[in-house]
Amino acid sequence: MPDHDQDLIVYFNREFVPWNEARVHVFSPFAKYGAAVFEGVRAYWSEQRGRMLVFRLREHMERLEVSQRIMRFDEIAPADDLCAATIELVRRNSFRTPVHIRPTVYVDGDGGSSARGPIGTFITAVPRGTPERVHEGCTAQISSWERISDRSMPARAKANANYNNARFAGIQAGIDGYDAAIMLNSRGKVSEGQGMCVFLIRDGVAVTPSVTSDILESITRDTVLTLLGGMGVDTAERDVDRSEFFAASEAFFCGTGWEITPINAVDGTAIGPGRPGPITRRLQQVYFDLVMGVTDDCPEWIAEV
Ligand code: PMP
Repeated sequence: MPDHDQDLIVYFNREFVPWNEARVHVFSPFAKYGAAVFEGVRAYWSEQRGRMLVFRLREHMERLEVSQRIMRFDEIAPADDLCAATIELVRRNSFRTPVHIRPTVYVDGDGGSSARGPIGTFITAVPRGTPERVHEGCTAQISSWERISDRSMPARAKANANYNNARFAGIQAGIDGYDAAIMLNSRGKVSEGQGMCVFLIRDGVAVTPSVTSDILESITRDTVLTLLGGMGVDTAERDVDRSEFFAASEAFFCGTGWEITPINAVDGTAIGPGRPGPITRRLQQVYFDLVMGVTDDCPEWIAEV
């Protein structure tokens, strides 16, 4: 654990506690079965406004409500409460750097794998900057691991246990010398990366797998669709075949953590000229100007702290 983390404050079951006091019991269904759902939210420091800007907080907390319902929790931690707790957490930590916020709702107590409560809640926020690959682009592998399907582990729920699927794909990609994995779903169509959605550009149209492709219904994906529309770029949400990467002029990942990360090559074959393309670069500019508060086009997406 980085030293600075010890000084951080954590929201833990309606209280704000020091980092080392946020503990969950080893016998909880959370610890035993990964019975929990979570979110990843970013907040950026705006020098211009002298404020932290939390990006699309409400949408993240509403998705967390949906995740809890899919997981059949017997009590739902409401988005309103979690938004308020997050804002207070960011305020109490007095951040002046970009941070990654992680709200979690988990099954506490000592139940078995079907336990639906009692429910606990915590939120952490730790400094996290933009990954290097956002600037230089990354390489990706079409994973031999299949994306989980809605018939087994619904990808639409951001459930902790789902991330074992991402883990297999991510580790394999690393061992094989790639930066990232792209998984196909049970129908053999492109689904998503191991923690991010994927777009490719074909004939000037930005194409991304539909929300019934066993993806997480990504908030960044939604943001990107809106921003591309504003840039005059046509978009399509549909089934995507793996071979389309080789017909594409550009491709990129998007997600809260991965932000907008260009994909330079898939399976060792360059996409277009093998470096970040013009639409991807323009989109990055529009995206970062928005989340960092340089532009003010979508004020409803920004919570100032
Ligand atoms: N897919 C998966 C599996 C993810 O974990 C994430 C990150 N939350 C995403 C997509 C991107 O979602 P979002 O844009 O809401 O962060």
